[in-house]
Amino acid sequence: MSAARIKELTELLNYHAHKYYVEDSPEISDYEYDHLLHELEQLEEQYPELKDPASPTVRVGGKILEGFESVTHEVPMQSLHDSFNEQDVMDFDTRVSGVLGSGTYEYVAEHKIDGLSVSLEYRDGLFVRGSTRGDGITGEDVTQNLKTIASIPLRLKDTVPLLEVRGEVFMAKDTFDSLNAQREKNEEPLFANPRNAAAGSLRQLNPQIARERKLDIFVFNIQKIEGVEINTHTEALDFLKEQGFKVIPQHKAYKTIKEAFNRVLEIGEERYSLPFEIDGAVLKINNLEQREILGSTSKFPRWAEAYKFPAETKKTKLLDIIVQVGRTGVITPNAVLEPVRVAGSTVSRVTLHNLDYIREKDIKIGDYVMVRKAGDIIPEVVEVSKEDRDGSEREFYMPERCPECGAEVLRTDGEAAYRCVGTACPAQLARSIIHFASRDAMDIDGLGPAIVNQLIDNGLITSWADLYYLNKEDIAKLEKMGDKSAQNLLDALEETKKRELFRLLFAFGIRLNGQRSSKLLAKHFGSLENIMNATAEEMSQIPDIGEKTAQNVFEYFKNDKNLELIQKLVASGVNTEYHAEEGETNRLSGKKFVITGKFEELSRAEMTALVEKNGGKASGSVSKNTDYVIAGEDAGSKLDKANSLGVTVLTFDEFMKMISE
Ligand code: AMP
Ligand code: ZN
Repeated sequence: MSAARIKELTELLNYHAHKYYVEDSPEISDYEYDHLLHELEQLEEQYPELKDPASPTVRVGGKILEGFESVTHEVPMQSLHDSFNEQDVMDFDTRVSGVLGSGTYEYVAEHKIDGLSVSLEYRDGLFVRGSTRGDGITGEDVTQNLKTIASIPLRLKDTVPLLEVRGEVFMAKDTFDSLNAQREKNEEPLFANPRNAAAGSLRQLNPQIARERKLDIFVFNIQKIEGVEINTHTEALDFLKEQGFKVIPQHKAYKTIKEAFNRVLEIGEERYSLPFEIDGAVLKINNLEQREILGSTSKFPRWAEAYKFPAETKKTKLLDIIVQVGRTGVITPNAVLEPVRVAGSTVSRVTLHNLDYIREKDIKIGDYVMVRKAGDIIPEVVEVSKEDRDGSEREFYMPERCPECGAEVLRTDGEAAYRCVGTACPAQLARSIIHFASRDAMDIDGLGPAIVNQLIDNGLITSWADLYYLNKEDIAKLEKMGDKSAQNLLDALEETKKRELFRLLFAFGIRLNGQRSSKLLAKHFGSLENIMNATAEEMSQIPDIGEKTAQNVFEYFKNDKNLELIQKLVASGVNTEYHAEEGETNRLSGKKFVITGKFEELSRAEMTALVEKNGGKASGSVSKNTDYVIAGEDAGSKLDKANSLGVTVLTFDEFMKMISE
């Protein structure tokens, strides 16, 4: 009794699933379907031994996997040779007729579905395994996820002893749009296009998620079959349809390449009105025996050719240009577009990169522009449609003040980018504080990006100067922070008040001023105050301090906002004086060293430190600017180079003598 009912329900539900997902003509309501499914689930729970391996309940998704097993494709899953224009296609036909003789063959033209290729294996009519294409020879076993795709039959109509089919798993455009809309709401990263979304979903280790993604499939080839004779591709597709597959739409055979190519162009016209994405069309020889005769190269079958459509370009109105302040202070102009659907998704914003780009393309606010997706992913403005201008278009100018903080916006010489120079700019704040606390700068133990962001979000700090005025209660209130970690952070901050001057100087994050130039400045001027009072010229007279660096440092200390922060910092008791380390000298000032080979007494890193401690500079490669090469044992090519360039070579002892004199 139960056995009969289970069988009946299984068949009934599979029938209706096919009606719904493959034929797109449901006969019962979702409610009725769910009702029957529920009855089956209950019966199966009661009598697990009676459960059919092709039961619709297996589509619900199995257990979470740790990884995918690999699968070797007995029949390689080949790629297709690409054509980009009519001539390419005619050349393909010439190659074919050269082998088969003209007028002896037919073509089928199909949509080239933009998804990912899979192979489905059936034994005795039952779906037993499915895998991704991988490199064509080895793919991954994604059976469990494939079973969640409702348009893949779990059992064929006939008990075919063996069948392997190839198809393309894809995500329909509207499924993709709602998935991305959902992800945007949840602040999750968006998928670039339906193909990426389909690939990511099929390679999910959690089949539950794969199921929720509502993937679909079109099958388009029989890779292998036993027990049934098939002679042409159209026959094969008819057979697959009969067995319950969702087959690539509209397969008709054409006698000439001209007719077949017309169909290809027609598919191109349909492209954007289809509910799924295609990236081209495929031409295939219909007769399977002729396919055998044509054979394959190592990569492609000689009996098929893909025709790739050019990237779609659409015209739309550029409504406005707004600027965005990046985390490094760079101000990027973005175009606001009248929303337009391009290559599978709606575009309403595109980056215009920088002012040069805007001027080069002569883009004005109010222009009609041609938009396309570069690499089918990132939208871009191709050109302005000049004939649409009516004189109302306006030139765009970079703002003089940062829209986030009101600080000045400056363009650095030789750079396309404009930047906000405000230290307290919210867009730059987190980044500047993270830099301030980083290992090479103030080295504040335990103050990483997560805590910095929390401190900012809770309004506890608006600059690095505020770090030294935090109190325990406030810190302890942060997520994952207790009294103890709050105290630890305060202790760590206290500790950093003793840091060397160069660290502080580097921590300010002045553009181009690295750790090394900070060291040179600290050493040369002796105190923060002296550096702040120095002119750019004085700074650039120090060997190895470039003019631009000097200028940046000079300007940094002329900015009122910066001065205010520094005052606050100094008031907290942070060290601003240079203290010479023991053994520190200026003897090697301005000299460039290359250290090569092995030394008994010191490691190479120690040697480098010694050079720097004495004011010299150590670099990795020998050039004519090198002053000295210190050569240890087994010195190789660098020593040869030094000799050929006439660079002075020192032994370890000679070097030690040099710094002790
Ligand atoms: P490509 O990835 O550009 O080398 O193109 C080859 C891929 O197109 C194959 O791996 C298939 O996954 C895919 N494809 C999509 N639709 C079809 C189709 N109708 N016939 C053959 N291949 C197709
Ligand atoms: Zn700003």
